[in-house]
Amino acid sequence: MKRILIIATGGTIASTEDGAGLAPTLTGRELAARVPLIDTLCELDFVQPMNIDSTNMRPHDWLRIAGVIEEAYDRYDGFVILHGTDTMAYTAAALSYLVQGSEKPIVLTGSQQPMASPFTDAKLNLYHSVLYACDPASRDVSVVFGGKVICGTRARKQRTMSFNAFTSMNYPSIAYARGERVVRPAGVAPAEKTGARPRFFDALDDRVIVLKLTPELRPSIFGLLAPEYDAVILETFGIGGIPDHDGSFQRAIFDWVESGRALVVTTQVPEEGLDLGVYEVGRAYAEKPGILRGDDMTTEALVAKTMWALGQTHDPAELSRLFYEPVNNDRTPR
Ligand code: ASP
Repeated sequence: MKRILIIATGGTIASTEDGAGLAPTLTGRELAARVPLIDTLCELDFVQPMNIDSTNMRPHDWLRIAGVIEEAYDRYDGFVILHGTDTMAYTAAALSYLVQGSEKPIVLTGSQQPMASPFTDAKLNLYHSVLYACDPASRDVSVVFGGKVICGTRARKQRTMSFNAFTSMNYPSIAYARGERVVRPAGVAPAEKTGARPRFFDALDDRVIVLKLTPELRPSIFGLLAPEYDAVILETFGIGGIPDHDGSFQRAIFDWVESGRALVVTTQVPEEGLDLGVYEVGRAYAEKPGILRGDDMTTEALVAKTMWALGQTHDPAELSRLFYEPVNNDRTPR
């Protein structure tokens, strides 16, 4: 029988109401005990590094979770992380960079309704996550939620209440849980397993901020951010437009990268990604050294990848190499 480690971290799935608002109180073991038939799938062990609303999940917590996986890696066939839904996409992306090339599945799940609620989605999500973690073809970091399996770098929380909270952005869902079966899209052959260990990383630079362009945003914002941040992820308009009516944005952005800081350009449009070459209002940034293109990556994955890459190096050439190397299907190759 397979052995799966449940890493419980909190979230709505573990929450109960004490009059002051939902807050996590239940342990991973208590949660699994409420899921019918889960014990027929595999042997389960439990670890509880924290029990928090994922609003409070921070980069040092991602490192802690990666550390738990590294320490337990050889003793288990897979890992299921119980996590709040609000920042699950960030944690799934971060773990994709911190644990690279895992032949053992690392699954994140949670629920929109607490396990204690009569109409909860928690039971099926947890059951499906363990089912997927036990499937011999499963690997790498993914989110299992609402019957879908989404690559860990492509998940986005798209709905605040519905049970199908997560969408796979710019990339197909990698599998589906249908009753007691894992169904993979036809024609996608699972990669061969060789027994290789993943690469674990233990450093992040958390001085990364997302800046969304809005009409009349002042370019002087870059000067205000400089003391606190090493990288800005700039969500531009459309396929990659940055205002150029008086040249002040270009000056502010070029000064930012010339000061040795990183700038990642992406789009605030959720689907289909960036192409800086299309419009005059983007082209000046396309070939500027130090500016990195987000292409069709999610903002969540860009935050995590930039923190991870800056955690390894601040050398611009090496940073660019790490940034453009695809990890866990995070970008569609050009
Ligand atoms: N606030 C909760 C959390 O992210 C929401 C959830 O789990 O659905 O921890």
